[in-house]
Amino acid sequence: MTTTTDVLVIGGGATGAGVLRDLARRGLRGLLVDRGDPGSGTSGRYHGLLHSGARYVVSDPLAARECAAENEVLRRIAPRTIEDSGGWYVQGPGDPDAYAAGFAAACAAAGVPCEERPVVELLAREPRLHPGLLRAFRVRDAALEPWELIEANLADAVAHGAAVRRYARVTAMERAGRRILSVTLADERSGSIERIVPRLVVSAAGAWAGRVAALAGVRLRILPGKGTMLVFAERLSDAVINRCHPPGDGDLIVPIHTVSILGTTDVQVTDPDDTAVERAEVAALLSEGERLFPALRERRVLRAYAGVRPLYEPPADDGDGPGATAPPGGRMIRRSHVVIDHAAHDDVDDFVSIVGGKLTTCRLMAEETVDVVMRKLGTSARCTTAAEVLPGQEPRHNHWLGARLAAHEAAGGGDAGLICECELVTRPDLDAFLDERWPCSLDDVRRGTRLGMGPCQGGFCTFRAAGVIAEREARRGASLDGVADLASASAASFLDERLKGVRAVAWGRQLQELLLVEGLYRGVLGSTRPAVDVGASLDDSVAPRVAHAVG
Ligand SMILES: Cc1cc2nc3c(=O)[nH]c(=O)nc-3n(C[C@H](O)[C@H](O)[C@H](O)COP(=O)(O)OP(=O)(O)OC[C@H]3O[C@@H](n4cnc5c(N)ncnc54)[C@H](O)[C@@H]3O)c2cc1C
Repeated sequence: MTTTTDVLVIGGGATGAGVLRDLARRGLRGLLVDRGDPGSGTSGRYHGLLHSGARYVVSDPLAARECAAENEVLRRIAPRTIEDSGGWYVQGPGDPDAYAAGFAAACAAAGVPCEERPVVELLAREPRLHPGLLRAFRVRDAALEPWELIEANLADAVAHGAAVRRYARVTAMERAGRRILSVTLADERSGSIERIVPRLVVSAAGAWAGRVAALAGVRLRILPGKGTMLVFAERLSDAVINRCHPPGDGDLIVPIHTVSILGTTDVQVTDPDDTAVERAEVAALLSEGERLFPALRERRVLRAYAGVRPLYEPPADDGDGPGATAPPGGRMIRRSHVVIDHAAHDDVDDFVSIVGGKLTTCRLMAEETVDVVMRKLGTSARCTTAAEVLPGQEPRHNHWLGARLAAHEAAGGGDAGLICECELVTRPDLDAFLDERWPCSLDDVRRGTRLGMGPCQGGFCTFRAAGVIAEREARRGASLDGVADLASASAASFLDERLKGVRAVAWGRQLQELLLVEGLYRGVLGSTRPAVDVGASLDDSVAPRVAHAVG
């Protein structure tokens, strides 16, 4: 099959979704493709912070200014995706006086709102913080839900004529001289192949942008920087808390929904798919986090996860333009994004990459990318994405547990209709998602509904959700063996993903939870899948603790 389009957008993270929306609103026909579910790349594995800009006021004032401006834009156009918790920068006993002394002035210079407040005021609001704090600055940090933002962008794009293909991987590009003639798309589920003939290709493939560029014969150097985060089973603070020092590991905690996320580390990796969490990273995060919250180790850690930063390294002769590097190595590389027109750099006329940046600045990155696209295609239309509110932005958070509880109780309450008790996902919620998105995985359901994200990490909702999938397929006439296999495979792949994050923090209550889940799936449900073989999958350092926990 061959499909024509004006612009093919590769990558359905926050950036690609923003690009598709902007293209559609400016009258261009766009097709977005992602090798998985949109939001399953770095955008779905990030820290959750809507930056105020304060983090970069000293190291990268341009990035700080962009974050501050886009923070306000997203609050206006996507209020439902933002939890306005506010944020603080705190100087602890070990943090440098000089950094804190210049912090407020650096914020003012970069246009980042910031106000110094008495430490006692902050400690009264956030009693779990270190009592020895020296200074406290209030900023406009907030928590940002990535999946709702991405889906709202895609919905707006589709409403304006765009198309989206999920689980569609770009595997090849056919070039003739300076032109890309066609792009090959492989459907990851059916294996079918499609040929796309676009007027122009935009790569928004994040940490994979180098690999996508290579398909067009272009060399684009992306240094994947892995960052690990820990999810605590409660809100340790009401506001975002940052250490007031040069950005480093474990110096930021973001409360979001019912949890708090502590992060991050920054480890250079060679493979952007490398999101394995090392125990040393977990230990390092806990020791740094204790400088903010002294009783951190007593709190229950739900899971660990990692995402990979798409850091761009420009060619050596590129001067000191936007995105230029300081000395090699993780946090020293500037975070500002770069739109690369490969006609200028690599002799390919119809290929543009957008690299670097932050989730907070995804709309701006999209606007600048589409400006380049419009110029190249010889058309002009004004960008409206900063002014137009995204679809579905009703005042209450869809995923806010309080709102869900109220809705559930209004509908009669009780346990009967609940699939996921932790996140209050009901059978009608699950059916509505499956009606819209089937065929899909339980991990897709998680991104769309929060199923499996609470304290049991899928222990109790996985078999129920897999059962619902089987029941629906049986009703459609699938064979009994077929539905049984489907249910087992759905449950196993979801549990495998969930438990991968739990194993890295398997001690105390979370180890007990892991063993409970193993008992449930291996003992009661008779699963023989490695996903739930807890004992076999824990490393040597944990095995004795398993023995101890089992008694
Ligand atoms: C640990 C960590 C913490 C962070 N914290 C924050 C934060 O708190 N606040 C903030 O603003 N920013 C944060 N960031 C930065 C932010 O997450 C990223 O800049 C942003 O999510 C990148 O989005 P993207 O759309 O460019 O890339 P991605 O979300 O990675 O999207 C790229 C997409 O391309 C797809 N793709 C790849 N190859 C192909 C192919 N061959 N065919 C089809 N599709 C393909 C992938 O499946 C993926 O979905 C953090 C980053 C990391 C790593």
